[in-house]
This record gives sequence, C-alpha cells and structure tokens, in this order.
Amino acid sequence: AMPDLEPSTAPSTDDPLDRELRAAVSAGEFELHYQPKVRCPDGGFEGFEALVRWRHPTRGLVPPGQFIPRLGELGLAPLLGRWVMAEACRQMAAWEAAGLGTVSVSVNLSPGQLRDPALPDRLRQLLRDHGLGPGRLELEVTEAMLMDDPDDAIARLRALRDAGARLSIDDFGTGWSSMAHFRHLPVNQLKLDRVFVQHVDRDRRDASLCAGVIALAHRLGFGVVAEGVENEAQAKRLAGFDCDLFQGFLYSRPLSGERAGDYLRGARITPRTPSPSA
Ligand code: C2E
Ligand code: MG
Ligand code: MG
Repeated sequence: AMPDLEPSTAPSTDDPLDRELRAAVSAGEFELHYQPKVRCPDGGFEGFEALVRWRHPTRGLVPPGQFIPRLGELGLAPLLGRWVMAEACRQMAAWEAAGLGTVSVSVNLSPGQLRDPALPDRLRQLLRDHGLGPGRLELEVTEAMLMDDPDDAIARLRALRDAGARLSIDDFGTGWSSMAHFRHLPVNQLKLDRVFVQHVDRDRRDASLCAGVIALAHRLGFGVVAEGVENEAQAKRLAGFDCDLFQGFLYSRPLSGERAGDYLRGARITPRTPSPSA
C-alpha cells in the first residue's frame, strides 16, 4: 500500500482508465521489478534498475508505457514517483538485512520530480531512514528533461548528487543534448539507448556511433551502460568499444522483488570497480 498519499488536485474526468488509475494509486496497486546491470566483460553483477508495473485486478501486469503518460496528465506522477523511490530504498535495506549484500538500485525520475524543490531533502531523509550510504540509490533522468532549461536542470542534479544520489542520463542519444551543457553535467554515467545498440553488430554507422559516444563519454569522465542488449553479437561488439555495463534480455528480464532476491543469492557479487567519475 502507499500510506503517505495526499489527495490529488488532478482534473476530474469520467474516463474509466482515469478512474481506475486514481483507484490504483490510492490502493497501491503498483510493484517494482528489477533488471540487473552487469559489468563488461566479466558479467559480474553491478546493480538493478527498478521498473514500475501496475498489478491490475483483471488485466494482469501492465507495463509503464501504458499508464505513466496518463498518470502524468492526471497530476499523479509525483505521488507514484515518491512511492517508487521509497519502495526501492525499502527493498535495498531488506536485501541487506537478509544478507544479500549492499546492492545498488536505480529509479527513473519523472519530469515533475526533477523540478520538485523538496526532492533533495526528501532523498537525504529516505537514505538516512533506511541506513543507505551515498551512491546506493541512483536516479535516471532523460535528456529531454534537461533540455528546456539546462542550467536549472544542472543545478537540480547537483543538489541531488550532494544529497547522496548517483545520477545517470537515460535513453542517451535520443534527445538533442547541448554539447555546451554536456561538459558540466554532474552525472556518473550515460545509458546508451537501445536504438543504437539494436544493430551495433550489423550496421557500420550504428557501430561508429556507439564507439564514438563511449569514447567521448569516457574522455568526459562518464561511465556507459548499453541498454537493451539482446544477443552475444551486440555484447561482443560493445565490449570491443570498451563499454562499462550491459543491461538487457541477454542477461535477464526485469524480475519481481522476490525473484530478484533469488538472483542475488545466485549472482557472483564481486566488489564494485570504481567508475571513472565515482
Ligand atoms: P527505461 O528506463 O529506458 O527502461 C528500460 C526499458 O527497456 C524497460 O521497459 C525494460 O523492460 C526494457 N528492456 C530492458 N532490456 C531490454 C531488451 O533487451 N530488449 C527490449 N526490447 N527491451 C528491454 P519498461 O519496464 O516497459 O519501461 C519503459 C519505460 O518506462 C522506462 O524506460 C522508463 O522510461 C519508464 N519507467 C519505468 N519505470 C518507471 C518509474 O518508476 N518512473 C518513471 N517516471 N518512469 C518509469
Ligand atoms: Mg531507465
Ligand atoms: Mg532507457
């Protein structure tokens, strides 16, 4: 359940999906699934990305693409976002208490969350409440969220970093990042979008793009995660370009909290190698 929800100020509509979504938020019908990120080239476990799902009473597990945009329009995204951060922290502390190690988890921020001035303090409080040291929680923001007002976004990212979060740029390469601002981004890593990874083993231009982005990222002090790695040929190509981390169906689909715990019991958990900007 989501205990700390406040009444929403969202516009009221009679759309059945809207009614269901509001009910889902009050009833806490959401769950986080966890997809491993692994190190290149040894495949050692590095951490999870938390991905939200809606456990719909009749439709089963609904992926975020089918409800997050509408949730945003209804003004409910910040409530869900707060629950996601708190749940990820709770899960990390529970795994640690169960002897499964000091796992790190990343969560995806919505645009409204990044603009919320209360976020850094809330984050600091959450980490303290769950006894999580700096760097255990990572926040993923998309390029698109930085583009309207890059100076403001950079200041907000700095505050989040100072509050103890690691930061990454999600879906990197799909927006139009300004190289001028790029130099000043206070982030640890870039997540190279699946569109570039998809044909990296077959398309010369995509391969050049991946190689170039990885080299540039490293020169600027960022680590690189390749998203959506589905086969060995892609992994081999990206390893040749010195990619740091892999995430994709080749290694694992997103797992329920319980199955992620089983994964941790079986994973080779080796000490984390510091990333260039850590
Ligand atoms: P994302 O953050 O880029 O997450 C990666 C998406 O790619 C996930 O989809 C994941 O299941 C999928 N994926 C992972 N490996 C592979 C692969 O090898 N092949 C293919 N085809 N897909 C792969 P998912 O879970 O449906 O999430 C979609 C998007 O929804 C996420 O993209 C993220 O932008 C958003 N999202 C997820 N959880 C949250 C959340 O808690 N809050 C917010 N604001 N957005 C979220
Ligand atoms: Mg993400
Ligand atoms: Mg992504």
